[in-house]
Amino acid sequence: MINGLNIPGTSFHPFSLADDKFHDHCGIFAVQGHPEAANLTYLGLYALQHRGQESAGITSSDGKELIAHKGMGHVADVFTEPVLEGLRGCAAIGHTRYSTAGDTNLKNAQPITVACQKGQVALAHNGNLVNAPALRRELESRGDIFQTTSDTEVFLHYFARSKHSGIPESVADALDKVVGAFSLVMLFKDSVIAIRDPRGFRPLCLGKLDGAYVVASETCAFDLIGAAYLREIEPGEMLVLSSHGEATSLRFAPPQPTQCIFEHVYFSRPDSVIFGRSVQASREMLGRLLAREHPAQADLVVPVPDSGVAAAIGFAEESGIPMKVGLIRNHYVGRTFIEPRQTIRDFGVKLKLNPVRSLLEGQRVVLVDDSIIRGTTSRKIVRIVREAGAKEVHMRISCPPTVSPCFYGIDTPTKKELIAATHSLEEIRQWLDADSLGYVSLEGLRLAVGDGSGRYCLACYTGNYPTKVQEPLLEIRDRK
Ligand code: SF4
Repeated sequence: MINGLNIPGTSFHPFSLADDKFHDHCGIFAVQGHPEAANLTYLGLYALQHRGQESAGITSSDGKELIAHKGMGHVADVFTEPVLEGLRGCAAIGHTRYSTAGDTNLKNAQPITVACQKGQVALAHNGNLVNAPALRRELESRGDIFQTTSDTEVFLHYFARSKHSGIPESVADALDKVVGAFSLVMLFKDSVIAIRDPRGFRPLCLGKLDGAYVVASETCAFDLIGAAYLREIEPGEMLVLSSHGEATSLRFAPPQPTQCIFEHVYFSRPDSVIFGRSVQASREMLGRLLAREHPAQADLVVPVPDSGVAAAIGFAEESGIPMKVGLIRNHYVGRTFIEPRQTIRDFGVKLKLNPVRSLLEGQRVVLVDDSIIRGTTSRKIVRIVREAGAKEVHMRISCPPTVSPCFYGIDTPTKKELIAATHSLEEIRQWLDADSLGYVSLEGLRLAVGDGSGRYCLACYTGNYPTKVQEPLLEIRDRK
């Protein structure tokens, strides 16, 4: 928030509209063997825009060289027709970024494209390498020079340093070094490689279109380009897609799946299938379980748009209480806005959400959202609903209390900032000024995503991290 800055000639000041959510961090896409590779990648990134809005990039290969373009902003702003025409060739990879590790600027935008003794290579990464700070210190002490402040670049350094001459072997050498969450696509002159870390934290899907292979963070990208979904890239799999149309699956580590359960709760689009399961189905089931675990005597179920819609549908169906769209979202609000100097209460939230007074007045409302992170936005939404005349507001949350930050490619506040890490349920209810408050249980969450065998990471609800997290990251996350 940049409060206090005067804009000459106005009595307004800039106002940050960053919302109180966990933020996913990147979307990745790749094509091998299609004459429209760059255009398809552009469309794929367009469908994955929700996974990162700060920068976008595409690198293509025409079989002789790699051609790259990236910029700050949304996919539609970064790529023009002439730019896409210049991205020649039948193979391409793309990336949309919301910074998790490294600063927000163009030099950290991806794909990172470099030339080394093994030729040109481009890399796009979704996730976060938990041992990157230590690896970087080691490489820098040996004289390596880094172009970016992103964790992803250490991977390329180890790839370039590999004593092997073969590409898959050199990639495997680099994979031996890194720990954490990494769904990767790599582009070489004549091949594309798709990789998912052994725990499979982030999704990565394989599809086919007109004989070409396509790879995407989420299947909603396949729907847009008309590609058929084949399967997931498996945890611990390296899939090599050659320019001759061959797909070779290699295992670089045994699978130990701990997939991110929050992809089902919030990050992924509801029209995607991830980890082999429909996101919409998971969210509706979460709403049903929420209604069973925390019923409410109420007249209306109202979703917080858009994040609470699917769970509200499930809650309404299970409880028999009608769902109404009692909050309207303005979809055209950017990340910052100019606020009048005369402070308006709950200005940022009101810009995004407006209550429908005729629906809410005099009603007992069940307000459904997917999560409460700091609690600041939820408190304002409860107040807006009350001020629109609701008689009672019963807050229902379709995940358990969020008590720990994420180190696996998600932008989260520090533990101290997470309201559920420092307050009891009753204290949170009072702070929100809700008449009642209920979260889905951990068991309910696992049931809703079909997790009978412990295949999911639950660390933001339990504090039990599936990998060792190195001290520098803990220090960064716990900073005051
Ligand atoms: S800590 Fe939470 S957000 Fe991070 S990977 Fe695990 S479940 Fe997902």
